[in-house]
Amino acid sequence: MQSMRNFITGGAGFIGSHLTRALLERGDEVTVLDDLSTGSADNLAAFKGHPRFRYHVDTFTNVPLMGELVDQADLVYHLAAAVGVRLIVESPVRTIESNVRGTEIVLMLAVKKKKPTFIASTSEVYGKSADVPFREDGDLVLGPSSKGRWSYACSKLIDEFLALAYWKEKRHPTVVARLFNTVGPGQTGRYGMVLPTFVQQALAGKPITVFGDGTQTRCFTHVSDVVRAMVALLRDERAYGGVYNLGNAHEISIRTLAEQVKAMTGSASEIATIPYAQAYEEGFEDMPRRVPDTTRVRSLIGWKPELDLERIIQDVIDDFRKRG
Ligand code: UDP
Repeated sequence: MQSMRNFITGGAGFIGSHLTRALLERGDEVTVLDDLSTGSADNLAAFKGHPRFRYHVDTFTNVPLMGELVDQADLVYHLAAAVGVRLIVESPVRTIESNVRGTEIVLMLAVKKKKPTFIASTSEVYGKSADVPFREDGDLVLGPSSKGRWSYACSKLIDEFLALAYWKEKRHPTVVARLFNTVGPGQTGRYGMVLPTFVQQALAGKPITVFGDGTQTRCFTHVSDVVRAMVALLRDERAYGGVYNLGNAHEISIRTLAEQVKAMTGSASEIATIPYAQAYEEGFEDMPRRVPDTTRVRSLIGWKPELDLERIIQDVIDDFRKRG
C-alpha cells in the first residue's frame, strides 16, 4: 500500500477528524487546515505530536498558505464548509460565501499540479424530490430562494458544477460525494444535528425534541463507513469526474429514532413535538423522505455500509457517556 500525503481542509471537523485518523492508520501523511469556526481542536488532540500529522489554524482565504499546502500534497480533501441546517438558517451569508469561495480556491490551486480533489457535497441537494431512493442522475427539487434552507443546497450544487466543470474542461481529477446524514462519535449537537441532540437530551433526562410531526425520515450512516468510501474513491482513477451518494439505505422516521434513542439509553425523557416555525423559522420546509441509492458507488468500488443503525446509536451513546 503506497503512502500518500493528504491535505484536508476542515480537518478539525467531525468528518475531517475521522478521515485524519483513518489516513494516519493507513501510514499516510496528513496536513489539516481548519479555522475552528465549527471544527474543534479537541477533535485533533489525539494526533498532536504524531510524526505524520501537521496542523494549521487558518482559513481557506489564506491563498498563499493554501497553495503551499496543496502543492505539498498528493491528494486534497475539501471538507471545510458551513455545517448544519440551523447554522444555515441563522447565518446565510457565511454559508453561501464559505461554501462557494472555498471550493473555488481549492480547485483553482489543485488544478495547477493536477492534485486529485475530493469535494464534499450533501444529500441536501436532492431537496424535495419525491423520487426515492435518490439516484445521482435524478432531478433535484429545491424550494424558493426566499427560504434560507435552500441556499445550502444551492451553494453545494455550485461546488458540484464547478468540480464537474474542472473535470470536463481541464481534465482535473475530481470526486464529488453526496453525504447522507453522517453520524458517529465526536459529533456535536451544537449545530442542531438530530442524533447527537437526541442522545444528549435523553442522557440528561431532558425532553427529546422532535420537530414537525416526526414522520419525516432520514437514513443515518456511520462516519467510519463514509470515510472508508472517501479514501477509496479519491485513489481510484475510475471515480474521477463522478458524483457518488454515500449513505445507508436503512430509513427511519425521526419519531421512531427518538423512541429508539430513549429505549437504548433507558431514559425517562418525554418525547416533545416542536413546530418547525419554532425550531427553525417561519415557513421552514423540511424533506419528508431522504433515502440514497448507492448502486453507483457499490458497482465501482464495492462499497456498502457495514455498521447498522443500532450500532450507530450505541456508538453515539457510548461517546457521550465517555465525554460526560
Ligand atoms: N430534528 C428534530 N429534532 C432536533 C433536530 C433535528 O426532529 O432536535 C429533525 C429535523 O427537522 C430533520 C431531521 O431531524 O427532519 C434531521 O435533521 P438534521 O439537522 O440532523 O439533518 P438534515 O437531514 O435536516 O440535514
